[in-house]
Amino acid sequence: MYMIKKNIHKQILKKIKEYDEIVIARHIGPDPDAISSEIALRDIIRLNFPKKKVYAVGNEVSRFRYFGNLDKISSSELSNNTLMIILDVPRWDRVDYMKKEGFAYTIKIDHHPCEEQVCDLELVDDTSASTTQLITEFIYETKLKINKNIAENLFCGIVSDSDRFLLSYTTPKTLMLVSKLLEDYKFELMPLYNNLYERPLDERKFESYIINNIDITENGFGSIILDNKIFKLFNVDSATASNMVNDFNFIKELKVWAFASWDERNNIFKVNIRSRGTQINEVAEKFNGGGHKFASGARLQTLDEVKALFKALDDVCKENK
Ligand code: AMP
Repeated sequence: MYMIKKNIHKQILKKIKEYDEIVIARHIGPDPDAISSEIALRDIIRLNFPKKKVYAVGNEVSRFRYFGNLDKISSSELSNNTLMIILDVPRWDRVDYMKKEGFAYTIKIDHHPCEEQVCDLELVDDTSASTTQLITEFIYETKLKINKNIAENLFCGIVSDSDRFLLSYTTPKTLMLVSKLLEDYKFELMPLYNNLYERPLDERKFESYIINNIDITENGFGSIILDNKIFKLFNVDSATASNMVNDFNFIKELKVWAFASWDERNNIFKVNIRSRGTQINEVAEKFNGGGHKFASGARLQTLDEVKALFKALDDVCKENK
């Protein structure tokens, strides 16, 4: 595990103070933690340093609009003295929108396992339940101002990435920080949970389709391949399965499960993998993927590669039986 540097929060704040132009990015195919952390950090910097130009970049995802708008800024519009902060992403090739080149200084704040330093300054803690947890800690440590809207976004990121505190990354610190946010900003929970968890009935029907058709091996590995025909049948899209993969936790017969969804726009299979104890990220890394010990993903070109990944996942399940 990466050692957290002493005074890292102060060092990050010092760099934020030093630069007048700041770009904040996160990983491709963002989840609520990635989106809410970049929007929250942008809004924190804008609130505390109104004269700075701060941009949260990356492709918009319509179902996450409730977190706030992203900014459109191309690299040619930026000065050559810009600070880049990447969030919730361990490697540059997974960063959405901006390239590393051209930035005067780079910072990473992330909770993915990663041994390699890729930015000038890094706050990496793979024991943290989420990147929003790291940012919440950062604001309480540095005493930066926030407001109710920022607190709500941080709260949603932490709730979502810990899967409502079900995942083992949940620690006393996670609960202490959300408790502090709630105590200090007194926001209502139900509207936030509606944003995060309300689903159309079609999606629940699609979930039932997966339940009824998932292939489960004797080693406790469940898998399913989802194509356009199925998406059309249930009026869903290629990203829908990603949003529900966590809901297959705690099914007795499933120890590891993976959904491969055909993404027609990008001509790839997007694979979501989850586990209840068998380490999967090392397998994902061998198949052009990666992620956390128990929550990983991969992007694959062919059906044969998908089948090979499924076989490798079944093999690790067998080893861990
Ligand atoms: P997902 O299944 O897309 O929610 O991703 C689960 C975790 O795996 C997240 O932490 C992602 O950042 C990571 N991940 C997903 N796809 C990839 C990939 N192709 N390469 C590396 N990490 C990935």
